[in-house]
Amino acid sequence: MSRKPIIAGNWKMNLLQDEAKALFEGIKNFTKDFTAPQLPEIVIAPVFTSLHVVNEVKCDCGCGGTKIAVAAQNCHWETSGAYTGEVSVEMLKDAGCSHVIIGHSERRQYFSETDEMINKKAKAILAGGLTPIICCGETLEQREAGVTDQHIATQIRAALKDLTEEQISKSVIAYEPIWAIGTGKTCDSVEANRVIAMIRNVVKEVSTTAAGDAIRILYGGSVKPSTIEEQMSQSDIDGALVGGASLKAESFNEIIANTMKVSV
Ligand code: 13P
Repeated sequence: MSRKPIIAGNWKMNLLQDEAKALFEGIKNFTKDFTAPQLPEIVIAPVFTSLHVVNEVKCDCGCGGTKIAVAAQNCHWETSGAYTGEVSVEMLKDAGCSHVIIGHSERRQYFSETDEMINKKAKAILAGGLTPIICCGETLEQREAGVTDQHIATQIRAALKDLTEEQISKSVIAYEPIWAIGTGKTCDSVEANRVIAMIRNVVKEVSTTAAGDAIRILYGGSVKPSTIEEQMSQSDIDGALVGGASLKAESFNEIIANTMKVSV
Protein backbone atom coordinates (compact mmCIF):
# COMPACT_ATOMS: atom_id res chain seq x y z
CA MET A 1 0.00 0.00 0.00
CA SER A 2 1.64 3.23 -0.99
CA ARG A 3 0.63 6.31 0.91
CA LYS A 4 1.77 9.80 -0.08
CA PRO A 5 4.09 11.11 2.65
CA ILE A 6 3.25 14.29 4.53
CA ILE A 7 5.77 16.66 6.05
CA ALA A 8 3.94 19.11 8.30
CA GLY A 9 5.40 22.04 10.18
CA ASN A 10 3.72 23.09 13.40
CA TRP A 11 4.97 26.59 14.13
CA LYS A 12 3.16 26.64 17.50
CA MET A 13 2.99 30.12 19.12
CA ASN A 14 5.96 31.53 17.21
CA LEU A 15 6.77 34.12 14.55
CA LEU A 16 5.35 37.56 13.83
CA GLN A 17 3.77 38.20 10.44
CA ASP A 18 6.98 39.32 8.69
CA GLU A 19 8.87 36.35 10.09
CA ALA A 20 6.10 33.96 9.03
CA LYS A 21 6.14 35.43 5.55
CA ALA A 22 9.92 35.11 5.24
CA LEU A 23 9.91 31.51 6.44
CA PHE A 24 7.05 30.53 4.14
CA GLU A 25 8.88 32.16 1.23
CA GLY A 26 11.99 30.18 2.14
CA ILE A 27 10.02 26.94 1.88
CA LYS A 28 8.28 28.05 -1.30
CA ASN A 29 11.63 28.86 -2.92
CA PHE A 30 12.81 25.35 -2.23
CA THR A 31 9.66 23.66 -3.50
CA LYS A 32 9.50 25.66 -6.73
CA ASP A 33 12.15 23.44 -8.32
CA PHE A 34 9.96 20.35 -7.93
CA THR A 35 6.55 19.29 -9.18
CA ALA A 36 3.85 18.42 -6.66
CA PRO A 37 4.12 14.64 -7.39
CA GLN A 38 7.88 14.77 -6.65
CA LEU A 39 7.32 16.36 -3.27
CA PRO A 40 5.74 14.99 -0.13
CA GLU A 41 2.54 16.75 0.80
CA ILE A 42 3.72 19.82 2.71
CA VAL A 43 1.51 21.36 5.36
CA ILE A 44 2.36 24.49 7.33
CA ALA A 45 0.52 25.50 10.49
CA PRO A 46 1.16 29.14 11.46
CA VAL A 47 -0.63 31.05 14.22
CA PHE A 48 -4.10 32.40 13.34
CA THR A 49 -2.81 35.95 12.87
CA SER A 50 -0.42 34.87 10.12
CA LEU A 51 -2.82 32.70 8.10
CA HIS A 52 -3.57 35.52 5.67
CA VAL A 53 0.12 36.35 5.30
CA VAL A 54 1.17 32.85 4.29
CA ASN A 55 -1.83 32.57 2.00
CA GLU A 56 -0.80 35.70 0.14
CA VAL A 57 2.62 34.17 -0.43
CA LYS A 58 1.08 30.82 -1.34
CA CYS A 59 -1.26 32.31 -3.88
CA ASP A 60 1.33 34.09 -5.98
CA CYS A 61 3.70 31.14 -6.29
CA GLY A 62 2.08 29.62 -9.36
CA CYS A 63 1.55 26.16 -7.90
CA GLY A 64 -2.18 26.70 -7.52
CA GLY A 65 -1.93 25.89 -3.86
CA THR A 66 -0.97 22.28 -4.58
CA LYS A 67 2.50 22.24 -3.09
CA ILE A 68 2.09 23.80 0.31
CA ALA A 69 -1.12 23.43 2.25
CA VAL A 70 -1.97 25.66 5.20
CA ALA A 71 -3.25 24.32 8.50
CA ALA A 72 -4.67 25.89 11.64
CA GLN A 73 -3.43 24.71 15.02
CA ASN A 74 -6.90 24.46 16.57
CA CYS A 75 -10.59 25.08 15.93
CA HIS A 76 -13.98 25.05 17.64
CA TRP A 77 -16.62 22.51 16.65
CA GLU A 78 -19.54 24.97 16.53
CA THR A 79 -20.08 26.99 13.36
CA SER A 80 -20.54 30.38 15.06
CA GLY A 81 -21.90 31.97 18.22
CA ALA A 82 -20.98 33.12 21.69
CA TYR A 83 -17.61 31.37 22.05
CA THR A 84 -15.20 34.20 22.80
CA GLY A 85 -11.70 33.56 21.54
CA GLU A 86 -12.63 30.57 19.37
CA VAL A 87 -12.46 30.08 15.59
CA SER A 88 -14.78 27.86 13.54
CA VAL A 89 -13.93 25.49 10.71
CA GLU A 90 -15.77 27.65 8.20
CA MET A 91 -13.69 30.65 9.28
CA LEU A 92 -10.50 28.65 8.85
CA LYS A 93 -11.59 27.54 5.41
CA ASP A 94 -12.34 31.18 4.61
CA ALA A 95 -8.79 32.03 5.76
CA GLY A 96 -7.31 29.47 3.33
CA CYS A 97 -6.81 26.44 5.56
CA SER A 98 -7.21 22.90 4.27
CA HIS A 99 -6.02 21.14 7.45
CA VAL A 100 -6.47 21.59 11.21
CA ILE A 101 -4.22 20.12 13.90
CA ILE A 102 -6.32 18.87 16.82
CA GLY A 103 -5.58 17.18 20.11
CA HIS A 104 -1.98 18.32 20.32
CA SER A 105 -0.56 17.33 23.71
CA GLU A 106 0.09 20.99 24.51
CA ARG A 107 -3.63 21.71 24.07
CA ARG A 108 -4.59 18.64 26.07
CA GLN A 109 -2.18 19.60 28.85
CA TYR A 110 -2.52 23.40 29.05
CA PHE A 111 -6.08 23.92 27.77
CA SER A 112 -7.74 20.80 29.17
CA GLU A 113 -8.83 19.38 25.83
CA THR A 114 -10.55 16.06 26.24
CA ASP A 115 -10.93 13.12 23.87
CA GLU A 116 -14.61 14.04 23.53
CA MET A 117 -13.78 17.59 22.42
CA ILE A 118 -11.25 16.25 19.95
CA ASN A 119 -13.89 13.94 18.47
CA LYS A 120 -16.31 16.89 18.09
CA LYS A 121 -13.58 18.90 16.38
CA ALA A 122 -12.72 16.01 14.02
CA LYS A 123 -16.38 15.71 13.01
CA ALA A 124 -16.70 19.47 12.40
CA ILE A 125 -13.48 19.61 10.37
CA LEU A 126 -14.50 16.69 8.16
CA ALA A 127 -18.05 18.02 7.75
CA GLY A 128 -16.49 21.29 6.57
CA GLY A 129 -14.40 19.45 3.98
CA LEU A 130 -11.05 19.98 5.73
CA THR A 131 -8.56 17.40 6.96
CA PRO A 132 -7.95 16.85 10.67
CA ILE A 133 -4.44 16.04 11.87
CA ILE A 134 -5.29 14.19 15.06
CA CYS A 135 -2.47 14.05 17.61
CA CYS A 136 -1.97 11.35 20.21
CA GLY A 137 0.89 10.29 22.45
CA GLU A 138 1.95 9.09 25.86
CA THR A 139 3.78 10.75 28.74
CA LEU A 140 7.07 9.38 30.03
CA GLU A 141 5.24 8.05 33.12
CA GLN A 142 2.78 6.16 30.94
CA ARG A 143 5.61 4.70 28.86
CA GLU A 144 7.50 3.62 31.97
CA ALA A 145 4.33 2.11 33.43
CA GLY A 146 3.89 0.04 30.24
CA VAL A 147 0.53 1.54 29.30
CA THR A 148 1.57 3.33 26.08
CA ASP A 149 -0.41 1.18 23.65
CA GLN A 150 -3.50 1.11 25.83
CA HIS A 151 -3.46 4.89 26.30
CA ILE A 152 -2.98 5.65 22.63
CA ALA A 153 -5.61 3.13 21.53
CA THR A 154 -8.08 4.85 23.87
CA GLN A 155 -7.22 8.28 22.42
CA ILE A 156 -7.63 7.01 18.85
CA ARG A 157 -10.89 5.15 19.46
CA ALA A 158 -12.37 8.27 21.08
CA ALA A 159 -11.13 10.66 18.38
CA LEU A 160 -12.54 8.53 15.55
CA LYS A 161 -15.86 7.70 17.23
CA ASP A 162 -18.80 7.76 14.78
CA LEU A 163 -16.68 8.81 11.80
CA THR A 164 -17.40 7.05 8.50
CA GLU A 165 -14.86 4.88 6.68
CA GLU A 166 -14.47 7.62 4.07
CA GLN A 167 -13.86 10.28 6.72
CA ILE A 168 -11.31 8.14 8.53
CA SER A 169 -9.49 7.27 5.30
CA LYS A 170 -8.78 10.92 4.56
CA SER A 171 -7.87 11.90 8.10
CA VAL A 172 -4.29 12.13 9.34
CA ILE A 173 -3.00 10.95 12.71
CA ALA A 174 0.21 12.17 14.33
CA TYR A 175 1.85 9.99 16.96
CA GLU A 176 3.81 12.35 19.20
CA PRO A 177 5.29 10.82 22.35
CA ILE A 178 5.14 13.73 24.80
CA TRP A 179 8.59 12.99 26.20
CA ALA A 180 10.06 13.44 22.70
CA ILE A 181 8.46 16.84 22.01
CA GLY A 182 10.93 19.70 22.15
CA THR A 183 13.42 17.63 24.14
CA GLY A 184 15.82 16.62 21.36
CA LYS A 185 15.10 13.00 22.35
CA THR A 186 13.67 11.34 19.25
CA CYS A 187 11.74 8.11 19.76
CA ASP A 188 13.67 5.18 18.31
CA SER A 189 12.40 4.70 14.73
CA VAL A 190 11.65 1.01 15.15
CA GLU A 191 9.64 1.72 18.30
CA ALA A 192 7.81 4.66 16.67
CA ASN A 193 6.97 2.37 13.77
CA ARG A 194 5.70 -0.30 16.15
CA VAL A 195 3.35 2.16 17.88
CA ILE A 196 2.19 3.55 14.54
CA ALA A 197 1.48 0.04 13.23
CA MET A 198 -0.51 -0.56 16.43
CA ILE A 199 -2.49 2.64 15.75
CA ARG A 200 -3.16 1.42 12.20
CA ASN A 201 -4.55 -1.82 13.63
CA VAL A 202 -6.82 0.14 15.98
CA VAL A 203 -8.09 2.10 12.96
CA LYS A 204 -8.79 -1.20 11.16
CA GLU A 205 -10.64 -2.45 14.22
CA VAL A 206 -12.88 0.62 14.62
CA SER A 207 -13.36 1.07 10.87
CA THR A 208 -12.24 -1.12 7.98
CA THR A 209 -8.98 -2.64 6.74
CA ALA A 210 -9.15 -0.27 3.78
CA ALA A 211 -9.42 2.77 6.07
CA GLY A 212 -6.49 1.53 8.16
CA ASP A 213 -4.40 1.03 5.04
CA ALA A 214 -5.32 4.46 3.66
CA ILE A 215 -4.96 6.71 6.68
CA ARG A 216 -1.64 8.56 6.92
CA ILE A 217 0.05 8.33 10.31
CA LEU A 218 2.92 10.69 11.06
CA TYR A 219 5.59 10.68 13.73
CA GLY A 220 6.32 13.84 15.71
CA GLY A 221 8.83 14.62 18.46
CA SER A 222 12.26 16.16 17.86
CA VAL A 223 12.27 15.30 14.14
CA LYS A 224 15.44 16.68 12.54
CA PRO A 225 17.06 16.48 9.10
CA SER A 226 19.35 13.78 10.53
CA THR A 227 16.48 11.56 11.78
CA ILE A 228 13.93 11.73 8.97
CA GLU A 229 15.52 9.24 6.54
CA GLU A 230 15.50 6.44 9.07
CA GLN A 231 11.97 7.36 10.16
CA MET A 232 10.69 7.42 6.58
CA SER A 233 12.31 4.06 5.85
CA GLN A 234 9.93 2.37 8.29
CA SER A 235 6.91 0.47 6.98
CA ASP A 236 4.18 2.43 8.73
CA ILE A 237 5.53 5.94 9.27
CA ASP A 238 3.97 8.13 6.59
CA GLY A 239 5.61 11.43 7.43
CA ALA A 240 6.42 13.85 10.19
CA LEU A 241 4.86 16.60 12.26
CA VAL A 242 7.79 18.90 12.92
CA GLY A 243 7.99 21.56 15.62
CA GLY A 244 11.34 23.23 16.32
CA ALA A 245 13.01 22.21 13.06
CA SER A 246 10.12 23.72 11.06
CA LEU A 247 10.98 27.22 12.31
CA LYS A 248 14.01 27.55 10.01
CA ALA A 249 13.67 27.17 6.24
CA GLU A 250 17.06 25.48 6.07
CA SER A 251 16.22 22.61 8.42
CA PHE A 252 12.63 22.19 7.24
CA ASN A 253 13.70 22.12 3.58
CA GLU A 254 16.38 19.58 4.44
CA ILE A 255 13.73 17.40 6.07
CA ILE A 256 11.69 17.61 2.85
CA ALA A 257 14.77 16.83 0.73
CA ASN A 258 15.74 13.86 2.89
CA THR A 259 12.18 12.55 2.75
CA MET A 260 12.38 12.60 -1.04
CA LYS A 261 15.52 10.43 -0.88
CA VAL A 262 13.63 7.54 0.70
CA SER A 263 10.01 7.92 -0.30
CA VAL A 264 7.44 9.91 -2.32
P1 13P B 1 9.41 19.29 18.19
O1 13P B 1 9.70 18.87 16.76
O2 13P B 1 9.91 20.65 18.52
O3 13P B 1 9.81 18.23 19.15
O4 13P B 1 7.79 19.42 18.30
C1 13P B 1 7.01 18.37 17.89
C2 13P B 1 5.61 18.81 17.90
O5 13P B 1 5.02 19.00 18.96
C3 13P B 1 4.95 19.02 16.61
O6 13P B 1 3.57 19.17 16.76
